[in-house]
This record gives sequence, structure tokens and C-alpha cells, in this order.
Amino acid sequence: MPAPARSDACGACRHRRHGRCRRRVRGCLAGRVELLAADEELAAAACGEGTDAGPPASADELRAYAQVWAAYLDQDGAEPSESRALRKRGITLGRPAHDGLVPVRGALLPEVAAQLRLAFDSVLNPRVSGANGPCFIESERTESEGPNEEKADDRTHSQKQHDAFAVLLAAAVASGALPTLGGASPTLVVSVREEDLATGRGYAHLPGEDDPISLAAARHIGCRGVVQRVVMSAAGRVVSITTLDRVFNHHQRRAITLRDGGCLIPGCRVPPQWCEVHHVEEHSRGGPTHIDNGVLLCWFHHRTIDTGGWRIRMIGGVPHVRGPEWWDASHAWRQATKSPTRMRDAIGRVTSGGP
Ligand SMILES: [Zn+2]
Repeated sequence: MPAPARSDACGACRHRRHGRCRRRVRGCLAGRVELLAADEELAAAACGEGTDAGPPASADELRAYAQVWAAYLDQDGAEPSESRALRKRGITLGRPAHDGLVPVRGALLPEVAAQLRLAFDSVLNPRVSGANGPCFIESERTESEGPNEEKADDRTHSQKQHDAFAVLLAAAVASGALPTLGGASPTLVVSVREEDLATGRGYAHLPGEDDPISLAAARHIGCRGVVQRVVMSAAGRVVSITTLDRVFNHHQRRAITLRDGGCLIPGCRVPPQWCEVHHVEEHSRGGPTHIDNGVLLCWFHHRTIDTGGWRIRMIGGVPHVRGPEWWDASHAWRQATKSPTRMRDAIGRVTSGGP
């Protein structure tokens, strides 16, 4: 076999990527005869001259063949490289940067990465979403159908994965399966002055963090948890503590799930089990913890409900959503649900000509 014309190409078949495949096989500790056999097989596959007489293999197919050969020839198996990987694994959280973000750096073992990917997929519902998911293009849309739901979610795939990670963390804490911390399950505590929350101006604080967080973040954390009201005297003495348990119970949550079926925001596919229950009328403004005042929102839409341009209101206990201007120029209130039973009822009403 002639020497490769260049480092990344195969001399026999001039397949650009084949050189890489050969290096992968040559890296293993097998005998010369086996290596030459593997080399010939790969070259034949690249040229479309293999025993199966198929067309020339693509770069991806060649890489897969090379991996099979490397696994066959490497008698030590994956153990040596795995012990290297075990030593190099790790996750590091950095200090908050000037842009308000905390950098994450790390390297995961393949099985941990695979588990994380599965968890992301379960939150993001990849049947209809994701970077490489299927995409259906509608040939015609009429004005009465309203704006295109698929265009309502403009997050990048990376942003969606970040938000899914937040959902997974919240679910892990809420499961009660984590070890306790200071006698309670790991609870994110945010402190904020009552006046600031009422006026909407000011900051909130996380324990152990120098930089304050926004009131929107504080409201989001408060909306899905318990609020503890601590009254202090002018001198700083704690005068009273009131705990406002305003978390929707599981009976209420089931009823809301039956009505909403998932995150209410059009185009969002986060399923109900990963959603939070949002108080439409804020609890601090008198909104009750009642099913007529609670709707399902995913972590992201709950976190940005004050700033993302979406509005929700309840009409007779039924949620209605109004989209931002860029999505719906008509700015109309639309009844919203992802509930299959309610959608089926709606179809039944249309086909029978009922109200
Ligand atoms: Zn959502």
C-alpha cells in the first residue's frame, strides 16, 4: 500500500478521513498481521471494494468500522483508558463573572454524561424539540389559527439544557431523597426586604454569595416554596416569624395538571411532571393558593414570566395567555392548554357544532 499522500488522507483510496481511522487502529497493541488485515479491510470499505460489495463507506461509517476493529484488536479492553478517565473526571464551579454568570468546567465519565443526556431529554421532550429533532414545515397557515407555536420558543439548545438542569436540581431536592443539610432537605434560601418586594425595586440575596440577585429571581424562588416573614425592630431584634405555607398540595397539582397538561406557554413542550405551579395573582398581593389561581409553567417560563413578554390571566378559572408583540402582532388573549383531554373536548365541540 503506498504511503499516504498527506497526513489526513489514505493513499490507496484518497478518502480524506481514512488516515484518521487507520491511526485509531494502529494505536492498539496488536500484532502486525492483524493490523495489516484491519488496514486492508478499512481501505476496501473506503473504496467500496469490501466483501459485501457495497458503495464506498462514509467518514462516519469508517470511524465506526475502525472502532469495532480497535475493540477487537485491543486485548486489554477499555480498562486502561477508563482508569485514566477516572483520574481526570471532575466538575468545577467558578466564581460569578462580571456578566452575572457562574462558569462551569468539567469532564464527565461516559456513563454519567449518558445519564445526564437522558435526563435532559426527559425534561425537554425531544420528540418535538432539540437541536437535531424532526421539523415539520406547515405549508399553509390561516389567520384564525393564530401565530406559529413552534416559533414561540427562541431559546438555543444550550439554553434549554441549562434550564433542564435547573429543573433536575429542583426535582432532586423536592424528592426528599437527598441527605439533609442543617436538619432539613437542601433548601435554597433567598432573603429580601418586604418593602423592596412590594415596590419592585431593590435586590435579594443568596446565603454565602456576595453579589445580589434580582427581585424576579427572588419572586420565582418564593413562588414555588415556603415564604417566611421575619419582622425586625428598628434596632435589629427579631420581633416575629410567620411561615406562609403557600405550596400547592398534590391534590391541587393533579387537578391543575389535568386542566393545563404542561407548561402553558405556546411552543413550550416541557411535560407537566417537570413544571412548577405559578401563582397567577402573586401571593403577596393577595393571590390565594387555589387551583383557580395556579397554572403550570416550566422553570424557564416561570423564571421569566415578569420579563419575557408573556401574560397569563384566569377567566372563570380557565387560563388565557397573551404572547409578546414579536410573536403575536394581534396581541390577543388566547385560551391555553396542553391537556389532551381538554383538547379532545374542544375538537368534539367543533365537530358537533356546539359552543
Ligand atoms: Zn415553558
